[in-house]
Amino acid sequence: MTPTKSKTLECDLMVIGGGIAGITAAVEAAEMGRSVMLVEKEHYLGGQVARMHRYFPKLCPPLCGMEINFRRIKNNTLITALTGAAPAKIASAGSGYQVEVMVEPRFVTEACTACGDCEKVCTVEAPDAFNMGLTRAKAIRLPYEMAYPYRYYVDKSAVQHPSLQAAAKICPAQAIDLSMQPLLTTVKTKAVVWAAGWQSYDAAKLPELGFDVLLNVVTNLQFERIAANAILANNKIVRPSDGAPLASVAFVQCAGSRDDNHLPYCSAVCCMASLKQSRYIREQYPDAEIHIFFIDARTPGRWEDFYVNVQDDPKTIVHRGKVGKIEAADNSNLTIIAENTLTGNLERVTVGMAILAVGMEPVRGAKELGLPLAFDKYGFAYRNGAANVMPAGVAAGPKDVAASVQEATGSVALALSAIGRSI
Ligand SMILES: Cc1cc2nc3c(=O)[nH]c(=O)nc-3n(C[C@H](O)[C@H](O)[C@H](O)COP(=O)(O)OP(=O)(O)OC[C@H]3O[C@@H](n4cnc5c(N)ncnc54)[C@H](O)[C@@H]3O)c2cc1C
Repeated sequence: MTPTKSKTLECDLMVIGGGIAGITAAVEAAEMGRSVMLVEKEHYLGGQVARMHRYFPKLCPPLCGMEINFRRIKNNTLITALTGAAPAKIASAGSGYQVEVMVEPRFVTEACTACGDCEKVCTVEAPDAFNMGLTRAKAIRLPYEMAYPYRYYVDKSAVQHPSLQAAAKICPAQAIDLSMQPLLTTVKTKAVVWAAGWQSYDAAKLPELGFDVLLNVVTNLQFERIAANAILANNKIVRPSDGAPLASVAFVQCAGSRDDNHLPYCSAVCCMASLKQSRYIREQYPDAEIHIFFIDARTPGRWEDFYVNVQDDPKTIVHRGKVGKIEAADNSNLTIIAENTLTGNLERVTVGMAILAVGMEPVRGAKELGLPLAFDKYGFAYRNGAANVMPAGVAAGPKDVAASVQEATGSVALALSAIGRSI
């Protein structure tokens, strides 16, 4: 499809990435009176946090906090949120930047009321990336239950399917436009915040842990979706292979982290994420056995209380040792093999399911776009002389939500003070 070109737009600040860091940067700047273009490549805002079932430390659903931010965006005319959009080219222009933003077609217009009639008529499915490859979904769908914008989109791989033509015909708001084309928008901005976040380390690179072959081995982010989907459907969390209740589960910490062959660094949140996920299981299964295998638990500052509480649970067994192998014990169960680093003994524990605590890798692209940022050897960004280009959130290094929010606020303050000096 050839993109249509739109007129040139202008803003004080462009924020690239609509996760919690980017959203924070956008609302903080707009509430200081600056015009903001928030550019998000998915058809929804929220980033990885939107995928979480609950988040630590309070274990509340992430959408509690997100919803407030979505309202701040909706009510602030200084923010333009472009979803399905990503920068294609960035060039210096005077003291700021000219950015070519490619906006992918959503095939559903702002007239959509999310009534869901289209979904009933649509008979074609496509993989649902929001669920990390665990499920398929109708090709016309809401991104997630509380998505912003609260509007359907069409998976472009299925746009030609006849049932989508039928959906377009019956849409009461006439909001489905299957002829939409990509749009290339030129934006002149005085400053940029890079908040493109993270992706999970690819568990397929750890064949000894069986991720590709054993159905009951999942990643920590997949487990967030398994838990969230179960609760949404008023069901219990069950294991993937056969829908059996969870009788015993192993958490494999540092799966590919703090390992020179994979990610040499600590992702800072995986210990807390696993301790949190062990609570999801415990709430539903008071008798389930939970085994946590770790090199050492990293729960800094006030997160230590959380760790101590989990340790008080007599059915949570903490093993000091990195897991070397996971193999099938039978058709469904798994044997976890680890060397206990305190005793030197090889431990073999049979469980029903294993959750790999894989780390966070930075999303790449800033360097290729020519953004004047520097990058450490792992690809995390840091400031590089240009005061009006700042990284924020996990794009600048592994961190939790609270730290991402703090950093985003600081980045905006610095970027805006640089603009202040240049006008
Ligand atoms: C399993 C797990 C559980 C966790 N649980 C918790 C928890 O309970 N509590 C907590 O505090 N923290 C938790 N974290 C950490 C938390 O997920 C991060 O702190 C948070 O996601 C950081 O937000 P971010 O905005 O920096 O990045 P992201 O959430 O990754 O958002 C980045 C956004 O940028 C977009 N993007 C990427 N590239 C482009 C591009 N080129 N153009 C436009 N947009 C782009 C992405 O689509 C995404 O929407 C957990 C982490 C893991 C791994």
